[in-house]
This record gives sequence, C-alpha cells and structure tokens, in this order.
Amino acid sequence: MMPQELPTRQKLIRLIRESGGATLADLRRRTGLSRSTLRQHLGRMARDGVVQSFLVKRPSGRPPLMYRLTPQAELASPETYLAFLRALFDTLRTMGPERVEALLREVATRVASQHPEIRGLPEVGARLDAVRRLFFNDAEATPVVRTDGGYQFSLYACPLAPLALEFRDLCCVTREVIRGLVDRQVEQSEWIIRGDPRCTFAVRAAANGNGDGSAAGAAESQAARTRRGSPPPQVPAGPITFAFAGTYTDPVLAQMAEGLREVFTRHGHRFARGEDEELRLVFNFIDAARPRPYRRKGKGTFLVTVAVTNRRPDNVLKEGYPLLIRSLGNLMIYLVRAGGRVETHFVTLEQGTYQIPDLSGDAYFVHLYERLLPLACSELVIDNEFHTDLPPELWQGDELTAQLAEAGRRLDALNLLPAPFPMGELLPARDLRHIERLFGIGGLSYGNLSVRKDATRFWMSASGVDKGNMREIGRDMLLVKGFDPQRKVMLLSVPPHVKPRRVSVDAIEHWMIYTEHPQVGAIVHVHAWMQGVPSTAINYPCGTIQLAQAVAEKVRQAPDPARAVVGLKNHGLTITGRTLADIFDRLEEGFIRQVPMS
Ligand SMILES: [Zn+2]
Repeated sequence: MMPQELPTRQKLIRLIRESGGATLADLRRRTGLSRSTLRQHLGRMARDGVVQSFLVKRPSGRPPLMYRLTPQAELASPETYLAFLRALFDTLRTMGPERVEALLREVATRVASQHPEIRGLPEVGARLDAVRRLFFNDAEATPVVRTDGGYQFSLYACPLAPLALEFRDLCCVTREVIRGLVDRQVEQSEWIIRGDPRCTFAVRAAANGNGDGSAAGAAESQAARTRRGSPPPQVPAGPITFAFAGTYTDPVLAQMAEGLREVFTRHGHRFARGEDEELRLVFNFIDAARPRPYRRKGKGTFLVTVAVTNRRPDNVLKEGYPLLIRSLGNLMIYLVRAGGRVETHFVTLEQGTYQIPDLSGDAYFVHLYERLLPLACSELVIDNEFHTDLPPELWQGDELTAQLAEAGRRLDALNLLPAPFPMGELLPARDLRHIERLFGIGGLSYGNLSVRKDATRFWMSASGVDKGNMREIGRDMLLVKGFDPQRKVMLLSVPPHVKPRRVSVDAIEHWMIYTEHPQVGAIVHVHAWMQGVPSTAINYPCGTIQLAQAVAEKVRQAPDPARAVVGLKNHGLTITGRTLADIFDRLEEGFIRQVPMS
C-alpha cells in the first residue's frame, strides 16, 4: 500500500461505516473520485480483508454491488490498543506485584494451551521456530539458530516497546508464552527497551535439570560457565581504533607499547597515528614523577594510563590512584620493576587494584588484551536530562527521601562511605573543568542508594555528594523518572528553583533492576563484600550499560531478586531489598570491608 493512499482509504472506511454499506455510485458522489480510482482502492481493501462486496437484490434493474466493512476493519489502531493496555496495566498495578505476576502467568498458560500443534512437535528447535513464526512473522526477526547448547532467535522491532518501557512485566509475559509452548526455560539476553539493538530469546536443547531458577540458564550463560577461569571476552561491535600518547623510552614501557600494539592489531584492531581520528582506546604512557594528562576529544574514548616505577610501593592503590587521576585516565597499568622482574598491577577509578598473573611472552599480552578489550568497549550512560516538572508537594521531599537520608547516615555510621577523593587538590583547574565537561562529575565519591517511589520512578542519591548528609531535593537526592534508550540519557524530575546536581552514575543499573523487578523497593551499593556472593565476571567501569546488564543478570538469577546480594568484580556490592530497612537488617549481619580483587 502506498503511503498517500492512507487518507483516501481512511476516508472510504469512514464513509462506508457511516452509511452501513455503500455502492460505488454512493462513494463517487461523496468523494468525487473517479470510478476507476475507487475500484482500485476498493480492490486493494478487499484484498487486505478490510471490505467485502456483495450484490444487493432489488425489485428491478441490475443489482448494484454493495461494499461493507469486515469485522477486521473495525479493529482499532495500534495506538488505541497501547492506550487501552496502559490503562489495564495501571489498574493491575493497584492489585500488587504478586497478583500481577500470577495473572500474567495465567495469560501465558492460556495462550500456550491454544496451540497443541506446537507443543506436540518433538524437536525443541522446531517448537521455537513455530513460536517465532506464529507471533513474530511480521516483525523483523532472525531465524532460529543453533547455539552451543540450544537455540535462539532475535527480534529487531517490538510493537510493545513503548509500553514495555513502563511495564517490564510485558517482557516476562513474552518469555512465559514461549516457555509454555516450547516447554523449556527461556532466557532473554538482550532487551530493546534497555538500549540493545534487539531482543534475544534463548532456550536450551536439553531438558532443565531440577527446574529451579538457577538451572534455567540458557545456551549462552551455559557456555560462559564452561569457560570458567578466565573472563569470557566480550565481542565488540567491530574492530576498534586505538592510539598511543606520551613517551615510552623506558625499556619496560617500550616493550609494553610494542606488545600491546602487536596483540591489538593481530586481533583486527587498527592502530591510529593521526590525532584527528575517532579513538576508542588510548594508551597514555606517563612519567610517574611528572604525569602528563591526556585530554580526550569525546567521552567515548577509554584512556589507559601506563606507568612504571622502580620502587615497590607500600600500597599500590595509594600511590597509583593519584597518578590515574592526574593523568585523567579510566584505568591504569602500573608496572613495578622489582628484583629483575616486572609486576603488573591494574588500578581502577572505583579504587580497585589487582595484579595480573605472572605470564611470559605472548600469553601475557593476550591476557592484557582480554582484560582490556571489554572495558574499552563498554558504554557510559551518564547523560542526565533535567525536567523541572517535580510536583511542588515533593520539593521538600517525602517520607521516602527522609528514609533515604537516614539510610545514608546509617551507611556512614557503618563506616561504609569512604571519603570522596580530593580531586581538586590533585588536579589543576583546567583539568578539573575538562573532567567536569566530559563526564559531568565534580568529584569522585563511592557508594550510592535509592528507594522506589512508584512503578516507574525512584529517588536516588546525587553524584559526588556526602551520602551521610543528604538534605536538598534536586541537589542531594533526585527523582529518576526514566531512561531514554535511543539517546542513552537518564531523565530526572527536579524542582524549578534548584540548580540540579547529576544523579549517581549507577542510576542506569538501578533503573534496570527496578523496571524488571516490581518487588524491589530499594537498592544500596557499597564498596564492601560478603562471603560467598555471586559476582559479575568482568569489572566494567561504573556507569556503563555493560555493568548494569551484568548486575541485572545476577539479580535475575538470585533465588529472590527482591532480596539479592550481587558482587561487582573488584569493586563492591549491589544489594536489593523490599525496603531500605530490609537491606540494612541484612547488611548489619555482616560484611567484609575489603573487597577481594583478582
Ligand atoms: Zn561503586
């Protein structure tokens, strides 16, 4: 159908509906269109199943052809459906998350029971393919493909996306429907509404083990588990462009530069010599005595500082961290030359430090490559968009912000809030401005906390504030009202009279957890550890979508996602609870102040 036909078609539908049926002559009179034009339109409408024609018996003369609308033409537009579904979900919400979940499961069971022909297929792959054809034939979907341990397919467009942004349960219902028909647990590894390019659904070929939640892993995570030992390297979207800055005349630095260039180019990445190119990764070789900063052109550049020292530091973090800050890096490779050997330490912006195993030759550089590539390819979601639409009754906060402030004081009392790093004392004004402009942060502080306001909004601590002393709305605590996956920007409601501060960089992670799990009422992140917690595999930087996804996946796998404790590798803990008090009850039972590093 041509786009310009739409108004004519809509007009014809309206005319036929109003008259309860119309002949060609009626329509000619009402529209002024020619007989042949009308015939063309009506022919296509009949083919699309919108109109039916039949002969009308008259006492005399030739019976005219009468056009009537089919029931299908009376279907409402997608927008009307979405509005209707939104109202329905709003109503459902008032019934409480457990009832909503039970209801959606019931819906899925019903749909599944209507298709015994699919459930009867002997092959898992064939069942998944039949489901894909049944529900997503019109959508842009990939075929079902075999993976290591099962099958999967992806959807590139989701008609429910606008609504699913508000009601994550809709995605669960899709998975439930597939599960009911294929008779296997379904894992969703990519989500359009989270900013991924597609939604990917995977099932395992073998039947589920004992059927509990943790055994429900799909092909991908199963494969990841079998590769245990080294972090599964993330596949970047494509080759990246990298470059060197600074000087590497020191033999240790020169050797490092050569090895890095070799291993990255061997894996298909491009070494850039020019300055004006868009760089994904820059290695900045510095003199530890006089660290020179490298100023990025955009925040999409991941900057690795490389330094060497001849003296074994008493405390790698204490000596390395200021060098990382002063060189404006995201990560530092700190080489310690001691007794004829060179040790390799990584220092992260999250105040993590860990040593790279003592490998030689190519194995060493391959290891560095596998550790660095996922970090360099991670994407920051740190842009904030402030809307001065916070209702006046919330300008002074509510009982939830009082709870949040109290929780901040309790974290402080537990000594779980390390003092913000004094960047201003180390960086000249010009570099501070550079950081501020690129990343919107005025200081580095650690830990954050949030509490759910309603189905779609939550209060969260601001970036760089003293969490032990949060008072003002818009400055110390902000209301997060959404995330725009297209522009990758957090949306915040603030009072009109306040110059707002940015929300904590981990807002994207909290947003993902709240939208996926309606039962989660509060989230706390601290730089501490608990014995035996499940941990993410890669220490993605704070504020990246990859860290958020890795944490969300661990929360999903927890026996109770509303009371989960997730380890962030080399970094800290993210703890969910039904309330803030619920989190503190568990936190006060015991934690380890020192995060294990590897
Ligand atoms: Zn942190």
